Amino acid sequence: MPEGDTIYALAERLRPQVLGKVLTDVWLRDTPGASYLEGAEVVTVRAWGKHLLMDVRADGRPDRVFRTHLGMTGRWQTLRRPARRHPSVRVAFRAGPHGPELRCADAAQVEVFLARDLPRHPALARLGPDLLGAFDVDVVVSRARERDPVDLAALLLDQTIAAGLGNVFKCEVLFRAGLHPATPLAAVDDATIARLFEDGAALLEANKLRSRRVTTLGPTGARARVHGMDQFVYGRAGRPCVRCGGRIRVTRQGPRVRPTYWCPRCQPAAPSRDPNLPAVGSGL
Ligand SMILES: [Zn+2]
Repeated sequence: MPEGDTIYALAERLRPQVLGKVLTDVWLRDTPGASYLEGAEVVTVRAWGKHLLMDVRADGRPDRVFRTHLGMTGRWQTLRRPARRHPSVRVAFRAGPHGPELRCADAAQVEVFLARDLPRHPALARLGPDLLGAFDVDVVVSRARERDPVDLAALLLDQTIAAGLGNVFKCEVLFRAGLHPATPLAAVDDATIARLFEDGAALLEANKLRSRRVTTLGPTGARARVHGMDQFVYGRAGRPCVRCGGRIRVTRQGPRVRPTYWCPRCQPAAPSRDPNLPAVGSGL
């Protein structure tokens, strides 16, 4: 599942293949503004949260941004030899006349738009600080208070608060903090919110160039690593918790119905500070 670390690694992998190259044999399906890419030069390749952005430039035409968001299933491929294009391919091009063919398949979003429109872009303008950049954690905390998501699981997934964390890191960060996913935001203090994002950022940083995602890093995960575990709870429903031996549980949570994994013993429901809110964890 692509999260901020995956897109960072993707940008690192694609950059040497496309940077400074002129795009040729461009082929795109259902992509607004795509004709611009033919003959355009790639100026930068960068990740912003889960978005991959290439700034492109062509003589005599205003600069554009080529954006892909892989969603749950998208992927980029590099092909040395031509091959048939499956209908799932949204973008294909050569970087330079003799370069390999690069393809993006099954992506959730592909578009080309004017660079000057970036500050008003509906998906990018609202994004919070990129956790893989030099972010200010106080800014993230104040955005969290402003947005006021329903609980800690929603907090970590909300890309308008901070960009980069997805469902795997959400589950793992909350386990590492010993916090129940349904804890209301009103029940935790600012220092706790800051710690959650700092731990998430440290995990993204540690994973950005790894081929396999590992969230059992640091002293918290020493025992898990002895058992060869890459994750504490994610994908482990019904299996024993490495810390307490209890059974990991899973529930579907949020508008996109993504699974939340947690350990009921290590992440007990905490009392809410707000008497008007329902008991924490009552819905799980
Ligand atoms: Zn446990």
